[in-house]
Amino acid sequence: MRNLIIIGAGPAGYTSAVYAARAELMPLVFEGAVYGGQLMTTTEVENYPGFSKGILGPSLMGEMREQAKRFGAELVSENVTSVDFSSHPFKVIAGNRVEEAKTVIISTGASHRKLGIPSEDALWGKGISACATCDAFFFKNKVVAVVGGGDSAMEEASFVARFASKVYVLVRTDKLRASKIMAERAQKNGKIEFIYNVAVEEVLGTGVGHVTGLRLKDSVSGITRDLSCDGMFLAIGLVPSVDLFKGIVDLDERGYIKTKNVTETNIPGVFAAGDVQDAKYRQAITAAGSGCAAALDAQRYIEKLEEQA
Ligand code: NDP
Repeated sequence: MRNLIIIGAGPAGYTSAVYAARAELMPLVFEGAVYGGQLMTTTEVENYPGFSKGILGPSLMGEMREQAKRFGAELVSENVTSVDFSSHPFKVIAGNRVEEAKTVIISTGASHRKLGIPSEDALWGKGISACATCDAFFFKNKVVAVVGGGDSAMEEASFVARFASKVYVLVRTDKLRASKIMAERAQKNGKIEFIYNVAVEEVLGTGVGHVTGLRLKDSVSGITRDLSCDGMFLAIGLVPSVDLFKGIVDLDERGYIKTKNVTETNIPGVFAAGDVQDAKYRQAITAAGSGCAAALDAQRYIEKLEEQA
């Protein structure tokens, strides 16, 4: 039986792994098929303390991964397929592999929210993307719409504008959620135009197999119109990655894992850290911080188990 299994390999998971490995808990980390989480599709991270000149998201994650490895964390690039927390030791299953552990840290993060309209599924990857750093290059001298009014939308719009000839930012209300500095950066960019109070009703182009425009509804006037464009980037927030834990671990009304005392779930010995339990801060540094807390909590829990034995 293992001391600790960590599910998920973003800033929270790797920080947990570093702390747990240094405490000689020999943690096993299920990284999933692709490690690193959301930072792998970010460009420059300017607000992670310790990097005065900024650092690329993938470089930061590569460093965290190396650090976890250096202290002896066991990293496996497999997706967990199910968990059984109904009895102790807990079971974590990845295909045919069944692992048992005294404690588990859930750090599965969150993924991009979608609009939930049929044409979006039909044209995903054919002009629709949620990752400017991955796909902006394909829109050289093209017209692109970015949906959303948060920091992600500002960042995506500014990045896409390096390639595209024109970028529309479509905001569903009359105000941005983005921080002032990020909003101003996008607003000063001559290629970017903001359109407020609009909802995307349909992505046009299903007939030809690629995005040709968007049908927009003005939420004030109710008028519908078509905006011609070659691509759409979604930046409308995140949904926590909790599919494995539904009906097993308590979730809050927004679908995030419910925690008390920072990382404790409703199951003693199962902890959660990072974006999967944090709807409020959602920063790499806060995820890393809660990952550290989860490792310390797991360590204390194991010590208590040993005292009772
Ligand atoms: P946010 O939740 O902050 O913003 C989501 C945006 O999408 C809001 O404008 C929201 O509108 C809009 N939206 C949500 N659902 C829909 C929908 N169905 N249709 C249209 N619009 C929709 O998410 P972000 O991903 O922007 O940011 C997440 C966190 O990450 C934040 O804490 C942010 O500060 C941080 N971040 C920091 C960066 C940096 O500092 N470099 C870069 C990127 C993100 P409404 O306001 O009406 O709800």
